[in-house]
Amino acid sequence: MAAFPEATERSDVDVIRAPGRVNLIGEHTDYNGGFVLPVTIGLEMHIARRRRLDRRVRLALFASGEVAELDLDRIGPRTGGWIDYVAGTAREMAAAGLATGGFDGVISSTIPVAAGLSSSAALELAAAWSLSGPMGPPADGLTMARIAQRAENTYVGVMCGLMDQFASACGAVGAAVLLDCRSFDHRPVPLPAGLVLVVAHTGMPRTLGASKYNARRAECERAVAALAALEPSVHSLRDVDRTMLERHAGRLDPVARRRAEHVIDENLRVLATEAALRAGDFVALGHLFAASHASLRDLFEVCSPELDALVEIALSVPGVVASRMTGAGFGGCTVSLARPAAVDELRARILADYRPRTGRTPRVWVVEAVDGAGFLALGGPPAATPPLLTTGAGAAGRSGSRTDLLSQPHRRHNPLTDEWILVSADRIQRPLQGRSRGTRRRLAPSLAYDPGCYLCPGNARASGARNPAYRETFVFTNDFAALRPDTPEDRFEAGLIRAEGEPGTCRVICFAPRHDLTMARMSPAAVRAIVDLWADQTTELGASYRWVQLFENRGEAMGASNPHPHGQIWAGGALPVQAAREDHTQRRHFEATGRRLLLDYVDQEHGGPRVVVENDEWLIVVPFWAAWPFETLVLAKLPTARIADLTPTARDALAVALIELLSRYDNLFEHPFPYSMGWHQAPFDGGTNGHWQLHAHFLPPLLRSATVRKFMVGYELLAETQRDLTAEDAAERLRAVPPFHYLGHATAGDG
Ligand SMILES: [Zn+2]
Ligand SMILES: [Zn+2]
Repeated sequence: MAAFPEATERSDVDVIRAPGRVNLIGEHTDYNGGFVLPVTIGLEMHIARRRRLDRRVRLALFASGEVAELDLDRIGPRTGGWIDYVAGTAREMAAAGLATGGFDGVISSTIPVAAGLSSSAALELAAAWSLSGPMGPPADGLTMARIAQRAENTYVGVMCGLMDQFASACGAVGAAVLLDCRSFDHRPVPLPAGLVLVVAHTGMPRTLGASKYNARRAECERAVAALAALEPSVHSLRDVDRTMLERHAGRLDPVARRRAEHVIDENLRVLATEAALRAGDFVALGHLFAASHASLRDLFEVCSPELDALVEIALSVPGVVASRMTGAGFGGCTVSLARPAAVDELRARILADYRPRTGRTPRVWVVEAVDGAGFLALGGPPAATPPLLTTGAGAAGRSGSRTDLLSQPHRRHNPLTDEWILVSADRIQRPLQGRSRGTRRRLAPSLAYDPGCYLCPGNARASGARNPAYRETFVFTNDFAALRPDTPEDRFEAGLIRAEGEPGTCRVICFAPRHDLTMARMSPAAVRAIVDLWADQTTELGASYRWVQLFENRGEAMGASNPHPHGQIWAGGALPVQAAREDHTQRRHFEATGRRLLLDYVDQEHGGPRVVVENDEWLIVVPFWAAWPFETLVLAKLPTARIADLTPTARDALAVALIELLSRYDNLFEHPFPYSMGWHQAPFDGGTNGHWQLHAHFLPPLLRSATVRKFMVGYELLAETQRDLTAEDAAERLRAVPPFHYLGHATAGDG
């Protein structure tokens, strides 16, 4: 660690890995809209990084100590150095709307440079992860691969296809991944047991071929242009088959025709190779590799005597199943499939025979198929806090991806409360019991009007007051309030004993006149009326009180005895404990970064595995740090301090999002889902609230069925919150049920 000698000794250092790749088959097909079959291999680039609170990137090469720097807010033109891959990736992430942040880092790599094993794509993916927060980039692997490809195309200036970035981002353990470069569909293709992957390098750098690579692309485009003039359905060589090519053979120049022949047949060979791998047909693999190599040599003309020599040597070793040149050609590597017993001899023969034939020094790697880019080890946030996740991964071994880390017991940090949650995911590897037909409860719909309900229109309450015949929503001051406006604001203090009076008020909001409805089954217009009422009530009470707490308790499990749809508003002069804590954490983040904590979180979660509902205005996620099994956080996507600040568009979008969320909740067990929910919005204390972002918490207690609930007892009460179901699994289960309520939705008129 030449540049930052302390880097690996600190718990706030994350180690990111991004692997190289070798392509099993499918050369020069990616930029022709065809198929490729890369294997993501355990030759990797690692970046040890410590996040910075500013927007600077300082990176050093472990091998040479060379340092380069970058200002993320002022990315200039390319420099011609390796930092261009980082700069281009940062620029394209920003262009895609993904948040980036500064870091100090050290790069080390086991991927040979310019060998055709995709070290530049690995650097781009490692950069993307390093520029992201503790959960990695807020987009899926394919999206990140396309961003990295754009970085290379538009900033670094190399017109590569998508394969390299895709392989580095989306690898699968023990498998090749078949990618359709036109639709971007992809699927893992398991490598058969009993086959070992051996990569051999010619000793010739592939960079020699850059101009020839561009020439081949141009020749393919020439073939497409000539064919498209005759066949309107042709947009790429993917649209051409042998019959069509024969039909128009005379209209193509011989070079373009040979290039097209290769691409057409190579696509078929990729699909045939998939089938052979799945069937374990080693003989077919041998033929397919041989045909691909011959086609690249004779039709595409990108082979070399060195590549031919390596393939010949490999195929002369008993137990070698298949061998061919891989990558763009003009040097680079071969890939061979060998039975385990043949590997030692294969290596020995290459090292002994190749040099006398070519005068060049070969290199040989036995590689295995690994996961795509991710964390090798995750430290804590930039501030001095306990480590979030650590594994035994030292410099010596790769211990797995982020997914592996998060499947171990670990603690998650809640940045809103600055508390930690213990997640014991491995305790619940057994399948969850969903609803079963036997317990399915299509309860007879209860009454639309209940004469004994103190919330139904026209009924008398315990105080003797009578509810009006309301048609939409209705608010009244709680007859048995926990807070009262006439409470004196006196203070009392004697030694360790302190108290203060808390004036306040408590109101009840009836969400709808119908006794049997819930928000989940109301119309968007009816829920919008509730949103408007929440906003108006907040503004009105905010004139007198510092904190306005809107909340709803639903279901007997949460102590709500009356099923009539209703919520509460408590307002008081003090900042309650949860509010004060979230005020503090949001302010601290805002002062450190100039950005709102929860908007940064929106950027990080957007499109990710914890999202349950998302529209233009709202993001609803199971937060990474969720304590309750199906806890969700409802986040406004635009800067918004309070509900009253929401535009009409945002209010309508909120109504729709809430209906979807609550329908999904009820659909989980086909049972009314109990919860406590509440809104958190900026306090009315005359101070600046630029740090505050409007959000709601939904805290449901159910765990495994309509009757099995989570208890916050024992360790939770005495140490810290603990959970078994991961946030990611909970989100997946909520996404897996329909967005429409199992009992159907009421029409607007019913509300
Ligand atoms: Zn009622
Ligand atoms: Zn909150």
